[in-house]
Amino acid sequence: MRNRELRFGSTLNFTFDIKHAESDSLARVGSINTPHGSIQTPAFIPVGTKATVKSVLPEAMADLGAQALLSNAYHLYLQPGADILDEAGGLGEFMNWPGPTFTDSGGFQVLSLGVGFKKVLAMDAQTFRRDDVIAGNKDRLAHVDDEGVSFKSHLDGSMHRFTPEVSMQVQHQIGADIMFAFDECTTLHNTRPYQELAMDRTYAWAIRCLDEHKRLTDERSTKPYQALFGVIQGAQYEDLRKKAATDLGSLESSGQCFDGFGIGGALDKGQLGTIVSWVNQILSEDKPRHLLGIGAPEDLFVGVENGCDTFDCVLASRIARTSAVYTMEGRFNLSNSRFKRDFTPIDDECDCYTCTHYTRAYLHHVFRGKEIISATLATIHNERFIVRLVDQMRQALLDGNFAEMKADFLGRYTHRSGQSRD
Ligand SMILES: [Zn+2]
Repeated sequence: MRNRELRFGSTLNFTFDIKHAESDSLARVGSINTPHGSIQTPAFIPVGTKATVKSVLPEAMADLGAQALLSNAYHLYLQPGADILDEAGGLGEFMNWPGPTFTDSGGFQVLSLGVGFKKVLAMDAQTFRRDDVIAGNKDRLAHVDDEGVSFKSHLDGSMHRFTPEVSMQVQHQIGADIMFAFDECTTLHNTRPYQELAMDRTYAWAIRCLDEHKRLTDERSTKPYQALFGVIQGAQYEDLRKKAATDLGSLESSGQCFDGFGIGGALDKGQLGTIVSWVNQILSEDKPRHLLGIGAPEDLFVGVENGCDTFDCVLASRIARTSAVYTMEGRFNLSNSRFKRDFTPIDDECDCYTCTHYTRAYLHHVFRGKEIISATLATIHNERFIVRLVDQMRQALLDGNFAEMKADFLGRYTHRSGQSRD
């Protein structure tokens, strides 16, 4: 089993090399090297929540340029159980994906499903009312205390408890190359005092994650090294974000530091670049930075130019299943009757399998007929569109024309649709 595990890797260690850094922005080009292979950054990491990108084969994900996949510890813990993945030889082996994998800690899922806030991390602050959802909602399925989170399974109502130690144990069993520390994810709904409380808790949990991660790494020394990223919270507050970046960036416990960082929590879309730059100006340059849950085209530009290396988001596949597709001219819906006799590809500049083999008329037909292939074809296109867009940003950084590439894309992308957000 181990030979196959290491088939694509030349190293048991985790390293990050920077190949190019912009002088007038925080943007950089690099390579994250894991035991299951390398990721050329900036890179978009497609999400396979339950160890599958819904409706698409792993081979097709590799063909469309996915360099790594991200799954969810919370979902895999509930079903089939982290021990099953451990027995299978880890997440990649289990789902027939030979490349690098990520898992998030479960903190976000526990709290988002428990509290019931929308599973969209980029929010518009202006539409929000000041309200402390976590403290006030009696029907919530998750209860946070200083030790961890007790929650009710969204599958069968059974009760469970996640602590930093449990999250580390679950993520080590799942076996992804990159894991995230267990954090308390807040929303823009939460009050400032609650954000402070959650941040103190996340810091205390970060220490416990490092300690447990170190213990498990030693205990499972025959397994490839799994990197652990700390998660920077602090919502829209400059002082909290900077404090989190300073504290977690320099944190060492049991002789172990974080291998990289995730930027998480509530992110007001209008302030995305500002918030990310506060954090990335403080974090050490030599460790990779992942922007959690961000994947709309315009947000990816903001993330890249402010120093983020990797991104994940369910949006590309989720909207594909509702017949919404990205194109160079903006987003549109294939179910619309105007595509009934449109025998052109979804996007004539796209090189994906769907665009090189199928027409909008065919896609319109399979969506209207609720054929299973509709999800497959639209997901392949949307994932390719986003993966390729970030690949093009990486190339533009190397070629020295990122600003022109961004202006050209956004000029066209917003030209017709006018709306590209969920
Ligand atoms: Zn396409």
